[in-house]
Amino acid sequence: RRWGWSLAGELRQAAARDPGRTAVIDEQGAELTYAELLDRSEALARALRAAYGLHAGERIGVLCRNHHGLIESIVAATLLGVDAVLVNTGLSAAQLATVADEQRLRVLVHDDEFAERLLGLPDELPRLDERAREELRVNALPGSLTPPERDGRIIVLTSGTTGAPKGARRPTPNGFGPLVAIIDRIPLHVRDRVLIAAPIFHTWGFAALQVCFALRATIVLHRRFDPAATLAALVTHRCDALFAVPVMVQRLMEVPAPDPKPRLKVVAVSGSALPGGLATAFMDTYGDVVYNLYGSTEVSWASIAGPAELRAAPTTAGRPPHGTRVAILDVVGEPVPRGQVGRIFVGNEMLFEGYTSGADRERHDGLVDTGDLGRMNSDGLLFVDGRADDMIVSGGENVFPSEVEHLLAQLPQIREAAVIGVPDAEYGQRLAAFLALHPGETLDPDAVREYVRHYLARFSVPRDVVFVKYLPRNATGKVLARELRRYYD
Ligand code: ATP
Repeated sequence: RRWGWSLAGELRQAAARDPGRTAVIDEQGAELTYAELLDRSEALARALRAAYGLHAGERIGVLCRNHHGLIESIVAATLLGVDAVLVNTGLSAAQLATVADEQRLRVLVHDDEFAERLLGLPDELPRLDERAREELRVNALPGSLTPPERDGRIIVLTSGTTGAPKGARRPTPNGFGPLVAIIDRIPLHVRDRVLIAAPIFHTWGFAALQVCFALRATIVLHRRFDPAATLAALVTHRCDALFAVPVMVQRLMEVPAPDPKPRLKVVAVSGSALPGGLATAFMDTYGDVVYNLYGSTEVSWASIAGPAELRAAPTTAGRPPHGTRVAILDVVGEPVPRGQVGRIFVGNEMLFEGYTSGADRERHDGLVDTGDLGRMNSDGLLFVDGRADDMIVSGGENVFPSEVEHLLAQLPQIREAAVIGVPDAEYGQRLAAFLALHPGETLDPDAVREYVRHYLARFSVPRDVVFVKYLPRNATGKVLARELRRYYD
């Protein structure tokens, strides 16, 4: 057997072609070359096999922030033909227990900071904290690994904003289509220097890692996102690109631009909607470098908007890349006319193969339901209105929270805004806007309502205006609507 296409395969190729190239720089300044990263991953794989007798097809969980240990653990698993379940670091103790059980994890590799959250897991599940992982690796016996009878897969968990996190099985090859699509549409080059701020356990951060391996890029990683430290690192490490989620870009805009400014070619964002005006505000400070990618764990990439498209239409999700089909369908699966809202379906070679448990998404003619509503304009630009489940029906009228949120985000006093529907005796649902203001700012709720009334229909005006310090978000920056709903319990 030969080594197939997998994350491990990409790393092997990068290490063979560019062994001395720096692969990872952690925030402690530790640098590993591609050859070293592969050596360490192989040693960990041999040690894991020796200690736990892991077989191809079994699963290990990886619960880590962004650092070289996370990468080594994932690669080690795939080298053994073992599936790596990328676990969201934001999960609660109870959710972690469910994931460990449902995914039938054989071993769980985790960062020290999560040890307490794992106390409730069954004793039989071996857990490797950072020291245990290092000890295992350092004491690994020399030897070589033979290609496994099957490639190790990556199982990405959905973020669980709408319920329990589900495991989405990635097809093998793990990501070739979107890789080509991303590299094709974004000006990234071989040996670029890339800071991955998006969590690698999430589809988006994981895709960034794949792109970096394919380009033999130098990857800069921080465990936690800090806007000032990120800007400083972009300058110090002369980064060409930043991979982030929208809320991180928003935070970067809230701290002073360093002097000199980073010389970026690309700031690629995905994972949730870009708030109205954010891309253009960022580009006014840092240059025309923003790329907005729309996708999900289930469909990988659906569309990309580049700087010119975002300048012309700041909230657009752009156009599908080569090899991807996007269709806007009505309830019976018929395409809706251009400009009209419908359910967004996506087809490409990277559609997920199903969840590890539970019902599949609706599929239609080779396309998968994203669960999102949106529309395509006459130029073929896609606009995502948000999840169908989040749509508010107030007095019989449909309102998309995103439309009101984008508008509110343009008010200079507002730092961030989220809109949800809450039960209403008269209208069925009414709109509630949760607003976090910039420090020192105040706003009159009536002024907020009047502002929205000026631009949107009467039924889109939030009747409730609630001021909060910050919005509850998950690890990828999505606002947790269920937390906001608790306000009404
Ligand atoms: P769960 O279903 O458990 O809540 P999740 O679906 O939130 O998990 P992801 O797959 O990361 O986890 O989220 C994908 C969703 O995020 C998309 O369906 C869409 O609603 C939103 N999204 C992602 N990127 C964009 C974007 N560029 N613009 C608008 N919305 C986006």
